[in-house]
Amino acid sequence: MALRTIVQDGDPILKKVCRPVTDFNARLGQLIDDMKETLVEACGLGLAAPQVGVMRRVCIVVDLPPEDDGAAPEEGEEPEYKFIELVNPEIIDRQGSVGLYEGCLSFPGHNGYIERPEQVTVRAFDRDGNEFTLTRTGMTARAICHERDHLDGVTIMDLAEYFYEDQEHGAEDEGDAEE
Ligand SMILES: [Zn+2]
Repeated sequence: MALRTIVQDGDPILKKVCRPVTDFNARLGQLIDDMKETLVEACGLGLAAPQVGVMRRVCIVVDLPPEDDGAAPEEGEEPEYKFIELVNPEIIDRQGSVGLYEGCLSFPGHNGYIERPEQVTVRAFDRDGNEFTLTRTGMTARAICHERDHLDGVTIMDLAEYFYEDQEHGAEDEGDAEE
């Protein structure tokens, strides 16, 4: 695995439409593993392939527990980082709507207020080419939408109605529940 450089504001790659993955090969697996390492290092919630300079429809999202579940972790639950790997993802169902500020690792310091679905169902392929669908709510649903948008060259800078700027470039890509 290797850290990759995260593309920053001003790079035209962030505005391009990515191509579907057609070869589910070792190179794809390497890309996904590198993206995971890069995401953990950057303390983000999600990362899309164009953010590391690869114009393919691949993204990863940290699989958070549902935020409306205030209970302690169930026995047997793993508290460690889990990832959702999405190749050629399509959002096939959206429920509800929530407005929150969100950041992006490619636009450090900027937080845009964006309405997103409360719940999404996504259909995608895993790194081996197996199709699957999954449903997520809350911040994970938001992150899935955010990363999926990157694959069409759409970012928070296009979507947000208004912004606030961080004083320092701290926790990018994390939601902020403050009104
Ligand atoms: Zn982003």
